[in-house]
Amino acid sequence: MLSSVEKILVRGRNYYLKRDDLIDPLLSGNKYRKLYALIQAPAEQYERIISYGGTQSNAMLSIAALCQQKGWRFDYTSKTVAAHLKKRPTGNLKVALELGMQLHEVEPVQYAEAIEALKATQGSSTLLLNQGGADPLARAGIEQLAHEIRVWQADQSIESPLHVVTPSGTGTTAYYLACALPDVWVWTTAVVGDSAYLLSQMGALGPLVANLKLLESPKKYHFAQPYAEFLAMYRELLEAGLEVDLIYGAQMWQALLEHRALLDGAVLYLHSGGLIGNETMLDRYVHKGLF
Ligand SMILES: *Cc1c(COP(=O)(O)O)cnc(C)c1O
Repeated sequence: MLSSVEKILVRGRNYYLKRDDLIDPLLSGNKYRKLYALIQAPAEQYERIISYGGTQSNAMLSIAALCQQKGWRFDYTSKTVAAHLKKRPTGNLKVALELGMQLHEVEPVQYAEAIEALKATQGSSTLLLNQGGADPLARAGIEQLAHEIRVWQADQSIESPLHVVTPSGTGTTAYYLACALPDVWVWTTAVVGDSAYLLSQMGALGPLVANLKLLESPKKYHFAQPYAEFLAMYRELLEAGLEVDLIYGAQMWQALLEHRALLDGAVLYLHSGGLIGNETMLDRYVHKGLF
């Protein structure tokens, strides 16, 4: 088992927590799982990893940590970074740069073209990873996670139906988990974009499966923005003994608690970490006067 399971009490109900956040200090929970095949790969297999996306991305930080361990070069393309951030990087960007990540900024209007051009740079020693690690390569590590959940459920005699809850960015984690656990309900919520966008992202990985369910909050949220209710959720969970990240975890718990009555049976929350980003997020709550 790569991670243990704990139990917490929230609003009078028990929840199990799969502590993937404790697997590695930098490879954030599900990123460890998604990168598992590469973590297992011999260092000689690649010289360089290429990826792209946001500059506070948890996937970016995790790939940077992986490449540093393997001695691989890591080239990362993003849209232009604000001047003050470049002078004094914070959060995930700071750590990723310290780990040796090579950042390549392109103007927003040229971004799509630049990403398209990256595909041509792939070769036997250079691997291009899709944004957020949304890659078929992620399947093996998520299957390992599914196996651990199955073994835990049997060992603890947890009755079916079991509900596993995990927030979605690309949806890679929720999708491969639902595929690997056909007898388990996998619940998620769209944190990047809306549910339709999430379903299309999942659909690119393979046909949708019936045990994968989306929860929606009545209010629409913009990705990685501060909201008073997320901060309130974060604090309530902290009181209960669980620190989640303010981007994915807080929104997932909000949707989960709103729809709690739908989930009849044991609930296992997959804790994927991302806590390094809380520092910069809390700064933004302070700036917005919400903290
Ligand atoms: C990346 C991440 C997610 C989203 O994972 P996907 O597989 O892209 O859906 C959820 N929670 C945390 C903490 C993450 O870092």
